[in-house]
Amino acid sequence: MKQIKKNIIVVGAGPVGLLCALQLAKNGIPVTVIEAEPELTIDLRAGTFHPPTLEMLDSIGVTEAMMEIGIQVPRWQSRDLEEGLIVEWDMSVLANDTKYPFRLHLEQHRLTPILFKMLQRYPHAEVLFSHPLLELNQSDDEVSLIIGNKAENLLFTGKWVIGADGGKSVVRKACDIEFDGYTWPERYSVMSTTFDLYPLGYADNAYMSDPIQWVAFFRMPDIGPPGLWRMTVPVDSSISDEEVLTPHYANQVFKRALNGQLQQDIPIVHQSVYRVHQRVAKQFRKHRVLLAGDSAHVNNPLGGFGLNSGIHDAMNLTEKLTRIINEDANTELLDLYERQRKSVNLKYVQEFSINNKKQLEEKDPSIRQDRFAYLRKMNSNNVLRREYLLNSSMINSIQTANLIS
Ligand SMILES: Cc1cc2nc3c(=O)[nH]c(=O)nc-3n(C[C@H](O)[C@H](O)[C@H](O)COP(=O)(O)OP(=O)(O)OC[C@H]3O[C@@H](n4cnc5c(N)ncnc54)[C@H](O)[C@@H]3O)c2cc1C
Repeated sequence: MKQIKKNIIVVGAGPVGLLCALQLAKNGIPVTVIEAEPELTIDLRAGTFHPPTLEMLDSIGVTEAMMEIGIQVPRWQSRDLEEGLIVEWDMSVLANDTKYPFRLHLEQHRLTPILFKMLQRYPHAEVLFSHPLLELNQSDDEVSLIIGNKAENLLFTGKWVIGADGGKSVVRKACDIEFDGYTWPERYSVMSTTFDLYPLGYADNAYMSDPIQWVAFFRMPDIGPPGLWRMTVPVDSSISDEEVLTPHYANQVFKRALNGQLQQDIPIVHQSVYRVHQRVAKQFRKHRVLLAGDSAHVNNPLGGFGLNSGIHDAMNLTEKLTRIINEDANTELLDLYERQRKSVNLKYVQEFSINNKKQLEEKDPSIRQDRFAYLRKMNSNNVLRREYLLNSSMINSIQTANLIS
């Protein structure tokens, strides 16, 4: 088998893998990304970027490019199917906490080409498509990877490997790292339409509680103004994937969600259905192998924490790896990466996303009313609103991670 020596190998050219590679390349470190697919993937996935993520990406010039095509969302809503609008959150109260007091909506598959293009500027960075990782082993000094290739399998060796190969991570499995947690029984469906929800009073982002079928609404930029309206909903296990993926199903869901405000069928542009998990890897580091993004943790999309926390991993990890490579810093820094990122994932991302889901689907009318009262109280003055938004915008999670030593 052909053996090729590499330096740092990143497995997966998703947003987290590309960002890791970009950070390392920017710091002068040779890096190879291997990606199983023949090109960057395009599908309906994450699309909300929180203020700390925008600040981090600003430091490498990515935010500017995202802002050119994304939608700034300074206000978002908490709604209920029966009661209508509960609260409209105004993020301008965070103006002293962040340079970006808003959410930015941008499809994940519009971020990856930005990262890829920036990475191509560095001659010491390469992205190898159609190079799936098959096996991984490590010794004290290096990691060896067997990679599938059309002609023959390849053997790459590297000093460090970052597994950014998503929820089903081959890297994580090859390292025998447990993925603790569970899978929700219901699937989620994502669907989008050109039908405009502004005239019905919707903000660019809204979460609507309903004991039968809650809805998360987002206006996404798509190929340009006016963009598309996207809905994510839970799907009962009695309904087949085939049925969910019909325009008839999507129209039924839109009509129910809009509670009598929509009679006619509307154009459905995209539909998908997927399984949702709450899992965190037992270890984010196994000697010379590090996990980041979905390979290390997965969660339901309520709150938009998944990809954001993956980006926070990438920035934290590559800063430490750079110090180890360029300044000969102690490799124990990578254990600090695990302590910081794993604990905030458990404390914020898992806990908040599970809580958000519970609240949206709550069946008990009095608990529902208590929640509405709580939300109204939190929105009733700037101090309480700021407290609420520091958590939902992930600012507190970053501050907590930085305090862990
Ligand atoms: C179907 C789906 C829908 C989602 N929807 C939402 C949403 O609505 N909102 C939200 O906030 N989050 C959502 N998420 C989560 C969000 O998309 C992820 O948090 C984000 O993609 C994480 O980025 P990543 O780079 O870690 O992993 P990924 O984006 O999964 O990228 C991993 C990359 O690794 C590659 N790869 C996999 N195996 C190998 C291998 N063996 N060798 C080489 N390459 C490999 C893959 O092809 C892929 O390009 C969704 C996730 C999924 C799976």
